[in-house]
Order: sequence, then structure tokens, then C-alpha cells
Amino acid sequence: MALAPLAPSTRNLIDGRLVEASNGARFENVDPATEERLGDTADGTKEDMEQAVAAARRAFDETGWSDDAPLRARCLRQLHEAAVADKEALRSIVVHEAGAPVSLGSYMHVDDPIDMLAYWAEKAESHRPETRMEDVPFLGRPQGRILRREAVGVVGAITPWNVPLYLNIAKIGPALAAGCSVVLKPAPDTPWSATHLGKIATETDLPPGILNVVASSDHSVGEILSTDARIDCVTFTGSTATGRRIMACAAETVKKIFLELGGKSAHVVLDDADFAAVLPFAATTCVHGGQGCAINTRLLLPRSRYEEGVAILKAAFEGWSYGDPKDPRNLQGPQVSRRQQERVLGYIEAGRREGARLVVGGGRPAHLERGFYVEPTLFADVDPDSTIAQEEIFGPVLCVIPYEDDEDAIRIANRSRYGLSGAVSSASDERALAVARRIRTGTLAVNGAQWFHVDTPFGGYKQSGIGRENGQMGFEEYLETKVMAVPAGFDAG
Ligand code: NAD
Repeated sequence: MALAPLAPSTRNLIDGRLVEASNGARFENVDPATEERLGDTADGTKEDMEQAVAAARRAFDETGWSDDAPLRARCLRQLHEAAVADKEALRSIVVHEAGAPVSLGSYMHVDDPIDMLAYWAEKAESHRPETRMEDVPFLGRPQGRILRREAVGVVGAITPWNVPLYLNIAKIGPALAAGCSVVLKPAPDTPWSATHLGKIATETDLPPGILNVVASSDHSVGEILSTDARIDCVTFTGSTATGRRIMACAAETVKKIFLELGGKSAHVVLDDADFAAVLPFAATTCVHGGQGCAINTRLLLPRSRYEEGVAILKAAFEGWSYGDPKDPRNLQGPQVSRRQQERVLGYIEAGRREGARLVVGGGRPAHLERGFYVEPTLFADVDPDSTIAQEEIFGPVLCVIPYEDDEDAIRIANRSRYGLSGAVSSASDERALAVARRIRTGTLAVNGAQWFHVDTPFGGYKQSGIGRENGQMGFEEYLETKVMAVPAGFDAG
């Protein structure tokens, strides 16, 4: 498929200006499907990050942004329109730098995320910061109270590489709508999904310093966002290990933190399910190389129908089409980098070593000479306590685990340090829902229904994170709460 030509070089956005790094350095952006250099990006330094934080602080403290809802709604609409106008450039960026299959563009990677900006513009407009609470007595005299929900302040937003445009917008959209200023730090593997947004933001009325974008090849540049006292809230999506580190760093200045972390979600297939209809979809574990936090990577099959289920899965994995992300027939492209490819292959090796049965795949595909590809891989007879059943692989690898009865399935599904997503399939919606109610996880698909929407609060239990992204709850993550006691009968208008 012909994609828009790429701008080979981008800059950071600091205090309303597109700038090179303070030391002039740039870093390469590589196409994971071809291993070729796409171009480069200004390599933000610690000084650049300090400047961006200072700009965001000043813009929040010294402009009327947080109190000017019409301006915020207008800027978000302008950003939406500019992103729509530049959609093909953004599509090309996401496909090239993240290796995201072009076939998934409309759903998660490009079109839907861009339209989320319109949703956040509407939220900026409809939010009523102040509400009157019921009067309450104090020492026998009635007291009035005004509840105020206002912007939390300066937000440091740190994002990963797997669905970069979506995640960048999922953070800057609600933060700007709520009245915050933002410093966005994208992952080094996918800088352009952020710097290009920064570029089009300069075409809007956003006041200088309200949105800053600092790409860097150095992770420690991002760490400033979790340590600097001028940042009020860190919103992070990425691995649980980095989330833990951010939480520890943020403790020093007692920042508000909002973490969207890893997952190891289970699809529980009950013994009355229509296997022929349900199980072929389990190959979608390999979508985008399995690089999705909410993908179901454990499949729980009843022992009474176990081999029947594994045979259907085997056929689905063998027939799965993958390869060049620019080919619309493929739902699986490469892993984002050689490092990720090797990490996934290392987990496959661990699965073999620990005694799981390798049914399909397990290596680098012989027919794809270049690119960081991994074969769609199906493991059966996986011990629920083994490494591949417990750790997030972030690759096209499905672990099939047998269970005895519904209670056993629920126990295995919950035997995880994560709790991000999952699914339950049964011939009966009621039976599936009853099992879903008992799984400790943030989102669940019952009998194939899908929860993904900008209005759905998304996030995890346990080590999958703290807080919820999207929807009204996601918006409120960027608000502080103030109560102003006023004389009873006082009418604030
Ligand atoms: P990562 O944790 O390695 O990096 C994420 C971001 O954190 C990058 O921008 C990186 O530069 C930055 N970073 C690294 N060290 C830092 C530090 N000490 N201080 C501040 N920033 C730092 O994650 P990744 O490999 O880029 O992404 C994959 C992970 O993201 C997976 O675990 C996946 O489950 C998770 N993820 C979660 C969700 C969700 O919503 N729950 C969504 C997508 C991805």
C-alpha cells in the first residue's frame, strides 16, 4: 500500500517553538520492518527537558489557560482538524516507525486516536468546575460548601512505543482538556508520533509552553518528569518495571501518579463454548506482533475438551498471515526493535526449557530476511506458574493452559501479578458474565463483545497500574479537588 512520504527529520517543541537539541545532537529513527534508517530526530538533553518543564510551569501559573475552557476547547478542535488534515502523514509515521500494520490504522493506531481529540474538546467545554454541595451543620449552624474540580497543574506524560499516536493523544487530550500544561516524552523507538503532533500543535492557538514535546534517546531525560518539583502529576504508560521506578522517584515530591502498566490477560473458554466459532480468533494474540498491553496472552481450556481446542488453535496459528506491515492482508508486523525481538525469542526459549509443548512457530521466520519478525507461536501444556505464563512477553506468543472446572479456571486466571484485561466465552451469556465478575482485572470481553472506546475507563488492578485512562474517570485523573466553605445561603451564581 502506498503511504505518504515521511518527513526525514523532526524537532522538539519547547515553549511554543520547534527546536533542535541544546547540544545539536540527533538520533536515528529505524524502520523495524526493513531495519533501514528512516531519518532522525532532535535528541533532547536534560537541559532541554528542564526548559520544557520551566515553560510548562510558567504557562500554567501565568496564563489564564486553566480557567479558559472555551480556549481549551478551541485549541483541541484545532489540533483535531490539523491532525485530520495530516492524517496520511501520521499513518505513514506509525506504520514505519512502530511497524504497526496499516490494516489496524483505523482502529487503534491512527483514525480513532485522532478523533479522540474531538471527544476531549467536548469534555473541556462541558466540564463544570464548581458544584454546590448540600449545606451541613457545624456547631448547630448551617454551612455552605462549593466543590471545585480544577486542573492538577503541570503534567509529565511518558509514553511507550507500541501504540504511540494513540497513547500520546490519550494523555495530552484529557490533560489539556482539564486545563493542565503538559510535557510529553515519547519512547526513543517512536519519536515521530509525538514530534509530529508537536509540529501540528504550532498551527493552533495553544499558548506557548502549554504543550511541550521532548524526544530523547536517553531514558534518564524522562526521569526528570518524575523527580522535578515543578511537575504536579506524572502520567505513564509502559512496563511495570519502569512504572515502579517512576513511582519511587515521584515519592520524593509526593506527586500524583497515574500508571498504565503491563498485562498477562487470560481468555477463559468454558466447556460449553462453541470452540469452532471462538478459538480461531485466539490467533489475534499475534496482532501487531503481540505488542499490546491488553492482549489475551493466556488461553484457559477445559481439560475435558483440551485436545479438540488445541487442534483448532494450531490450524488458526498455521493459517495466520503476517509480514510487511504495509500489506493490508497482514495483522502482524515486526517487533519494534532487535532488542524486543531477542527478548521475545528469549521467552520462547524459556518456555521450551520449562517443558511447555511448542505447537506452532518458535523462531525467526525463514521467509522474511529483514526486519525484526517473530513467528506466530503457540505453546500448549503451559504450567500456570511457569515464566511464560507469568511474565509479559510482549510478542506473538499464546500460552494454552488446561483447567479442571470453572473454579479452577477462575483461580488460574487470577493467579497473576497483573490484572489488566481478559475474556470469557461460553454458550451462555449469564454463565460467562458470572465468571467475568470474579476475575480481578480492569476490562473484560464477555462472549466476544468489545470494550475499547474513548468513553471506556481503561486500566488495571494489581501491578497493571494505578488509575484509569479515557472516559470521565480518565478526565478526572487530571483534576484536583477543592472544597470552599461559604456562608449558608451565599449564592456564588
Ligand atoms: P518502558 O517502560 O521500557 O518505556 C516506556 C517509556 O518510559 C519510554 O518513553 C521510556 O523512554 C520511558 N522511561 C524508561 N525509563 C524511565 C525512567 N526511569 N523514568 C522516566 N521514563 C522512563 O516500556 P516500553 O517497552 O516502551 O513499552 C512496553 C510496555 O508498555 C509493556 O509492558 C506494555 O504492557 C506497556 N503498555 C501498557 C499499556 C497500558 O495502558 N496499560 C499500554 C501500552 C503499553
